[in-house]
Amino acid sequence: MKKALPRALCLVLALLLLASCAQETVPAPPRAPLPSPSPEKTPEPSPPPPSPDSESGVTPPPDVPEPPYSATVEYGEPELIKDNDGPLFTYIRFPQAGGGFDMPIAVWANWVYQSAREEFEDVLAADENAEGEINVHFNSYLTDDRYVGIVETGSFAHSHAPRPRDIVRTFNIDLSREIFLYPSDILDLGPDGGARALLRELLSEAYPGSSVFLGDIDERWFSQTAIGHDGIIVVLERYAFLPGAFGTPMVTLPYDRLGSALILGQERPPEPPPPSPPKPSSPPVPAQSGTIDPDRPMVALTFDDGPSRHTPHILDLLEQYGGRATFFAVGNLVGGGRDTVARAIELGCEVAGHSWDHKDLTKLDETALRTQMLDTAAAIEAVTGVSLPFFRPPYGAVNDRLKNVARELGLAIVNWTVDPLDWKNRDAGMVYDAIMRDVRDRTIILSHDLFGTTAQAMERVIPELLSQGYQLVTVSELLRHTHDGAALEAGRVYSR
Ligand SMILES: [Zn+2]
Repeated sequence: MKKALPRALCLVLALLLLASCAQETVPAPPRAPLPSPSPEKTPEPSPPPPSPDSESGVTPPPDVPEPPYSATVEYGEPELIKDNDGPLFTYIRFPQAGGGFDMPIAVWANWVYQSAREEFEDVLAADENAEGEINVHFNSYLTDDRYVGIVETGSFAHSHAPRPRDIVRTFNIDLSREIFLYPSDILDLGPDGGARALLRELLSEAYPGSSVFLGDIDERWFSQTAIGHDGIIVVLERYAFLPGAFGTPMVTLPYDRLGSALILGQERPPEPPPPSPPKPSSPPVPAQSGTIDPDRPMVALTFDDGPSRHTPHILDLLEQYGGRATFFAVGNLVGGGRDTVARAIELGCEVAGHSWDHKDLTKLDETALRTQMLDTAAAIEAVTGVSLPFFRPPYGAVNDRLKNVARELGLAIVNWTVDPLDWKNRDAGMVYDAIMRDVRDRTIILSHDLFGTTAQAMERVIPELLSQGYQLVTVSELLRHTHDGAALEAGRVYSR
């Protein structure tokens, strides 16, 4: 990326004061005509400025400019999760461009909504007059007609929370290679890579008094990083790195100051295929046979939200080591991933439904629920020839209406026992650690074949589970052994 704009010298900083997270925060730079501009939304009224955070004793920097209340939307069309009827006012905006990048972004937005709603339901149970608000907006930037950076920022607040919670998420896309990019694809985040030093320098310039907190800048500080016009935008979630009084700094590392710390845009050979996992060394991992020994421990690895380009790598590992897994596929992805789905079946794995388009099923009426489940089952059966008597709802979200329709359709609901939060941490080491910490005999482990980091984690998880004596079985096999061979009960929720 050669374009270092003259105005790149400036540090674009915005204090994302949480109460005003409804507003967009990055000044929109002057730009040439954009590919698919979207009309600005009507600005919302500005809430009063929040008071300084008394607990930290640090005064916010005095002369942070007011951010302009406009959004930069250069990618996709704004999609909205909205609810202004109930006690939880919801306004979550995210871009959708009609391609393969939409789903993970929508999954994230729905997860934000779902998890806040679940938390708020507990608050409502204690206080029926409680009120809450989720407010999330985004900016998106298209650079060199090739790179897309998306910055989602907002907050979740309710009347019984001591303070609003930051919601921060970035996405980066390389349109020419058709892949998501991660911070380590964009910046050299090593101790000597230069990005850390530049972030420290810019933060201490912009936030007098912050330097005492900046000793430990490491790659985690860059976990929310986006490709912007003038530089690489780093968003620091409130309270995660600096005291709350600093708000949610958004720092732009200008291209012309990044030097060799900028990896993005360097000519690289095409992506090599994922590295094949190391062959088992001595002592060899015992390959799993097709029969199950009920006296030995067993687990069901499950993978949601695929099939994706990372699913084949997981299948390679299962083939190599001899385990089986269950894939909860999103119906509208099954046709495009039919080869992957068919191969999973050849390897003895199971493929069951995970809704047609990853909607929160508890929000749908009975007719829509039937359509979601029947269409997904039909898409899977068209490839596998099998329609399994169970499914997993997105987010594991279940209500009575869903149970009733599941019962009517003869489907059990399968959730999980162990959740390594792989969708959240996107860190193969953390996924491995969480699974190995929580795994027990006859548990169901949730993961997502949507993420390369999860597939990478499986390079260690699968052989390690086998070497600890676990048999890697399908959900059907696990539930059969756990429930003494009884048939699954339609409408019942199983988590082990
Ligand atoms: Zn899912």
